[in-house]
Amino acid sequence: MDKPKADILVVDDKPENLHLLSEILMVEGYNVRKAVNGKMALMAVNTVEPDLILLDIMMPGLDGYEVCHALKCDLHLTKVPVIFLSALDDAFDKVKAFRVGGSDYITKPFQMEEVLARVENQLMLKAAEKEILELNTRLENRVKERTRQLEEANARLLDMALHDRLTGLPNRTLFMERVERAIAAFKTEPERRFAVLFLDCDRFKVVNDSLGHLVGDELLVAIARRLRERLGEDDVLARLGGDEFAILLPEIRDRESVTAVAGSLLDLFSRPFQIHNREIFINISIGIALNHAEYQKPEHLLRDADTAMYRAKAFGRGRYYVFDPPMHQEALDLLGLEMDLRRAIDQQDLTPYYQPIIDFKTGKIASMEALVRWKHPRRGLVSPGTFIPLAEEMGEIGKIGTLMLSEACRQLRRWQEENRAEESLSVSVNLSVRQFAQPDLVGTIDEILHDSGLNPECLRLEMTESAIVEYPESALTLLQQLRERHIGLSIDDFGTGYSSLSYLHAFPVDTIKIDKSFVNLLDGTPKNLGLIPAIIGISKTLNMVAVAEGIETAEQLAQLRDLQCDSGQGYFFAKPMPPAQMAEFLASDPRW
Ligand code: C2E
Ligand code: MG
Ligand code: MG
Repeated sequence: MDKPKADILVVDDKPENLHLLSEILMVEGYNVRKAVNGKMALMAVNTVEPDLILLDIMMPGLDGYEVCHALKCDLHLTKVPVIFLSALDDAFDKVKAFRVGGSDYITKPFQMEEVLARVENQLMLKAAEKEILELNTRLENRVKERTRQLEEANARLLDMALHDRLTGLPNRTLFMERVERAIAAFKTEPERRFAVLFLDCDRFKVVNDSLGHLVGDELLVAIARRLRERLGEDDVLARLGGDEFAILLPEIRDRESVTAVAGSLLDLFSRPFQIHNREIFINISIGIALNHAEYQKPEHLLRDADTAMYRAKAFGRGRYYVFDPPMHQEALDLLGLEMDLRRAIDQQDLTPYYQPIIDFKTGKIASMEALVRWKHPRRGLVSPGTFIPLAEEMGEIGKIGTLMLSEACRQLRRWQEENRAEESLSVSVNLSVRQFAQPDLVGTIDEILHDSGLNPECLRLEMTESAIVEYPESALTLLQQLRERHIGLSIDDFGTGYSSLSYLHAFPVDTIKIDKSFVNLLDGTPKNLGLIPAIIGISKTLNMVAVAEGIETAEQLAQLRDLQCDSGQGYFFAKPMPPAQMAEFLASDPRW
């Protein structure tokens, strides 16, 4: 049997009508169900939903209008078309029929063709409606799918723009965005703290150059993975480019918690990386910048972390360094100072000041120390503590040393010629450790002595213990050569450096200068003599002269005299002074 064309419910209280209608419809291939009143009709539709309802109006109990209204109120059944049946003599209200949701109506007695035509019409309409609905849903789904694809493509593009291709990590742009977010969060919650770490591989170039870029790339991927695993979920690890990485720790407790993270990251590099069956050891240096209110821009944090990273490298790689705010200023200052210093050396803006050294036996000036001064056009007198280390680093200390030597020798020789200085008066010039590496040092000294005409016995050179410890062999040869010329040799700042007494007797030095930090402690009581008696004892045993530095009070002088110290210098006698003043001082021939 063919599948019925549709399922039709016929509702009529007259059995003959029911019979007639169902006969015709069944002949046409419809499946027909019958109901003799409204109540039964509602039950029938609720059991199986029909495709169409033929509904009589005049029925005992619920009439057709009421049944239709009930159907249309039911969400599931509202789409079922209803064709009303009405007798011509019924008081049929067409308007009411349509208002309660009827789709059409047929008047009795039935015209069979009409019944079939109207039924088919309604079923076609219903089918068309259904099709439109389906098409609509399909269209909607298509649009949704295309939108999703577009969104996905957009997200991929965005992802590519914000991530590093090699490692898949966030790139600089994304990193900066995250730091910016952290800065914003800090503004609303000022107690919130975060940190930016700048990481740079040490000697990565060596790997790249010797093993090739492919190995280099794989190493970077492995490094990225190792770092990522160690970090927390909210921490942002980014590759800035090359062998540089950056980390944002968006929520930290304090400085120590950050350095702990940095330390644990450094630990990751104690194990080698396995790349192509090869073990590669590599280190990183880490610079750390901690947030504070002055940071307005992410670039500034990264810049300072970068500066700190360079510090870490300067201190010997494979370590971390925390940026402190004065560092930026310091770096700038130093840069300015460096340029100024070069100019000052060329223009000879450096001059010696002189500080007398008193012989405690005679109480008279026995010697003087030449101390360099820089007359800076803007900063005024700059103390050697600032620029001597800088000059050493710049490799310019040799020039300063030569200048001081020749100035001091010429000055003393002139005073001798003018009878302002006794022939026994000597001048001490400080020698930097770095000058020990200067190959022509002895030659230069010879030349200066020759040019000035000063007796070598009137010149003494002061050097710190570190010079001897750092260059033991060249120092020994050098000192012997100087000794042969009868130039005096002093160990400066004794007791502050390596204090290795063992070398003292092996080197031809004749004077020990007791550092002012010891003299400083002398307060007139016997309590704080510290190492002074021991140092004086050694000097006596080794037949050397002991000179105390930094004597500022009469009590200190008295105590040093009691301890048999030979001589001394300090503000108590005189501060370092320019040559003209020193000449007057010499002329006044003071006694203590
Ligand atoms: P130094 O050779 O130990 O010089 C003694 C320092 O102590 C001088 O500081 C001097 O001014 C200071 N001083 C002297 N008496 C007193 C005192 O009673 N109390 C205190 N508090 N200080 C006193 P200055 O001139 O600032 O020199 C510092 C250091 O710079 C020198 O220490 C020396 O190591 C180095 N220096 C100075 N001139 C030269 C130079 O021409 N060449 C080299 N290579 N280094 C130099
Ligand atoms: Mg000195
Ligand atoms: Mg000293």
